[in-house]
Amino acid sequence: MKIARQREDVVDFGIKMLEAGLTCGTGGNLSVLDPDQNLVAITPSGIPYPEMAPEDVLVMTLEGDVIEGDRKPSSEAGFHLALYHHRPDVQAVVHTHSVYATTFACLNREILPVHYLVGFSGHKVPLAPYATYGTKELADSIVQHIRNYNAVLLANHGLVSVGKDLMSALNVAQEIEFVARVYYQAQSIGDPVILAQDQMDEVIEKFKDYGPQPK
Ligand code: 13P
Ligand code: ZN
Repeated sequence: MKIARQREDVVDFGIKMLEAGLTCGTGGNLSVLDPDQNLVAITPSGIPYPEMAPEDVLVMTLEGDVIEGDRKPSSEAGFHLALYHHRPDVQAVVHTHSVYATTFACLNREILPVHYLVGFSGHKVPLAPYATYGTKELADSIVQHIRNYNAVLLANHGLVSVGKDLMSALNVAQEIEFVARVYYQAQSIGDPVILAQDQMDEVIEKFKDYGPQPK
């Protein structure tokens, strides 16, 4: 089986995404790139995460050919591959329908820096205008609007996050869901204070060495 470890990771992270409450049913999808072979392991379309096995995970080239797996690839394979082409720093893509981020997506409103943790995406979470799921129009819109951010809202649909691996991409999706929930709650009782550009510049700089450092 080609890129067996990455296919197992896709299955494991599908479960993590479900358990974190970031999606339900067969909503969302995820993929990881093996940069040595330029191969992508991506979830099959329409299979519930708890029923997914590594053999169900498709192996695709960056040009979009399926080279291993009998299932139908995710309907969003187009935007996963487009993101790997567009962003050389990205080796994993996670797409969720998490409730609070999707609420902002349905309002067609970006997530502003109401809480410093929006820094997991960048200075904000931008919004890609509505396009039908699974289309090239949606893939083009995502790459155009994500630019150098690590997340983008898909109008009337959900969220896409990216990272250097599946753990980072899932982490971005989780932190953005937290910020979206806080933003929603804050707006429901008042006018949240939005952090300034220089305040977010400082956060993003500090994030570079956040966490345990090598000795
Ligand atoms: P797939 O099951 O085809 O990946 O579709 C789920 C989804 O979220 C489409 O946007
Ligand atoms: Zn979706």
